[in-house]
Amino acid sequence: MQTKHNDPKKIVVVGGVAGGLSFAARCRRLDPSADIVVFDRGRDVAFSNCSLPYHLSGIVEDSSSLVLMTPKRLRSQYNLDVRVRHEVLRINRDERTVTVRDIESGDEFDEPYEVLALSPGASPILPPLPGADGDNVFTLRNVVDVEEMHAFMQKSDVHDVVVVGGGYVGLEVAENLQLSGKKVTLVEMQSQVMMRLDDDLVQLIHRELLDRGVRVLLNDAVSEITDSTVSLASGDHVPAQAVVMAAGVRPEVGLARDAGLTIGTTGAIWVDHNFRTSDPAIYAVGDAVELSHQITKKPVKLALAGPAQRAARAAANHVYGRFDRRMGVVGSAVVQVFELTAASTGLTERECTVEGYSFDSIYYINSNKVGLMPDASPIHLKVLFEVPTGRILGAQGVGKGGVDKRIDLMSTLIQMGGTLQDMADLELCYSPMHATAKDVLNHAGLVGLNQLRGEIAQVQPDQVRGLVEQDAIIIDVREKGEFRSGHIKGARNIPFSQFRSRLDEIADDRPIYLHCRIGQRSYYMTRELNNLGWDQAVNINGAFLGLCNVEYFHDQTEGREPIVDKYNFN
Ligand SMILES: Cc1cc2nc3c(=O)[nH]c(=O)nc-3n(C[C@H](O)[C@H](O)[C@H](O)COP(=O)(O)OP(=O)(O)OC[C@H]3O[C@@H](n4cnc5c(N)ncnc54)[C@H](O)[C@@H]3O)c2cc1C
Repeated sequence: MQTKHNDPKKIVVVGGVAGGLSFAARCRRLDPSADIVVFDRGRDVAFSNCSLPYHLSGIVEDSSSLVLMTPKRLRSQYNLDVRVRHEVLRINRDERTVTVRDIESGDEFDEPYEVLALSPGASPILPPLPGADGDNVFTLRNVVDVEEMHAFMQKSDVHDVVVVGGGYVGLEVAENLQLSGKKVTLVEMQSQVMMRLDDDLVQLIHRELLDRGVRVLLNDAVSEITDSTVSLASGDHVPAQAVVMAAGVRPEVGLARDAGLTIGTTGAIWVDHNFRTSDPAIYAVGDAVELSHQITKKPVKLALAGPAQRAARAAANHVYGRFDRRMGVVGSAVVQVFELTAASTGLTERECTVEGYSFDSIYYINSNKVGLMPDASPIHLKVLFEVPTGRILGAQGVGKGGVDKRIDLMSTLIQMGGTLQDMADLELCYSPMHATAKDVLNHAGLVGLNQLRGEIAQVQPDQVRGLVEQDAIIIDVREKGEFRSGHIKGARNIPFSQFRSRLDEIADDRPIYLHCRIGQRSYYMTRELNNLGWDQAVNINGAFLGLCNVEYFHDQTEGREPIVDKYNFN
């Protein structure tokens, strides 16, 4: 269909949430005269998907507050024609129309477009299991879903819930249901939850779940669901009157595929630099499209709200002849699990290995603020860097406070091609209530640089079990009282404050491994021993605190013999 030069541009949008409405609103800002129609098959548009799980615990008490804008307000404020309960069934590319069904009336009609934007999102994966279609099985994508789930959970006979999948949505649902008083079991096929964290850091999350009463079953899968039990591949049977499937999402590519648009290698919709599909009149954004990874330069799927909104703006800009730079994504994400925040950006250790990078890593712990201040708490930080350039490839953090800020900074550094030296040099704001004068990131950058330059040898906490099994010499440099409150079995206690007068007790003909509580005193002592001629002195990164966290969950859940006489998480 040809539009006359002076006719308002006719824009049709599929999907009225993160990507779709951002696109529509940007078009409106750029063009007051455009005729913009948004179709969404759901009951609501403009809702906060990311806040949905918090209705289950009552943190978001009123589910209607999850909906931020109504079609009426979108009409009055932005002059957008938003039609809910309207499903787009087909794209008729030759005619430049979409076929739409009004779900209430059942009527179908064709809506013409000059520009079409697809932001249909991603749908929860529902494995074809016996019982998966039961009334007690739920997925979570929109406000109606959470209302139905919440109503079911209120029934007097619903005590036990199985959550399937340990990704962000599964974790948030498990947490909120546990907070609401349910007995929650989380079942995950992989050997860990949250695949964006490496095996060492994720143990803190496992521990938090366990200590909060969530039963975590790893390396297992659901095989059958009834109205009272979930059966697992391992043969285990878990009581559950309700099941939440959070086993990942699949991009909604049906409309695009049926219309002959190119689907990328990841299974999401292929788009060009300006978020145009293989048909120049059709744009696509959000969870349904393939993005490019800024570090690996490879196509990736990334179901996150920030990238969806950025894509939407860039696409709308292009409709109006503006070009945005598209740097690719690094995958920055954060999740709250009870008292802990876990965040990650860039590549994980697994990804660095698969992609063939020459890389190394540090596990570093330091306080998020001056220790004298209320609520000061350690941040466990992992930094992956390229060898020999020191370019930062990825970072992950877990702790009770200040984690998101640090990982956001690391994300910024990664996006700017930053190195360990840049981390060390970061000039950051400081007051005792907010940070330390030399921030945890500055420290970690310096520690990483020294490791990169071969100025200090370090091992990671997850290597300590192997050292204990080999009868390696481990020296605990904490003070006596600290040693007594929990230590590695077989470790010797030579406090940092005494070591200069006890050098004759320290072997100089074999590797020795030093640790303290978080790694700072042992780092000093290792460097000093190195300078005094102990060239086989090695610091244990992450130290006793890191070690206890890395070991605890496996010991508790696998009946494994602990390598510490007592855990100490303080
Ligand atoms: C429970 C939950 C928690 C989340 N938490 C976070 C978080 O903390 N941080 C984060 O960054 N991201 C989070 N996300 C992901 C984030 O919400 C998505 O990345 C983002 O909403 C994607 O935007 P989108 O426009 O692509 O899809 P959506 O926001 O899902 O919108 C797609 C819309 O398209 C409609 N639609 C689909 N097909 C059709 C059709 N044929 N016709 C008409 N309408 C159609 C759907 O009904 C839907 O309303 C979360 C998601 C969920 C479900």
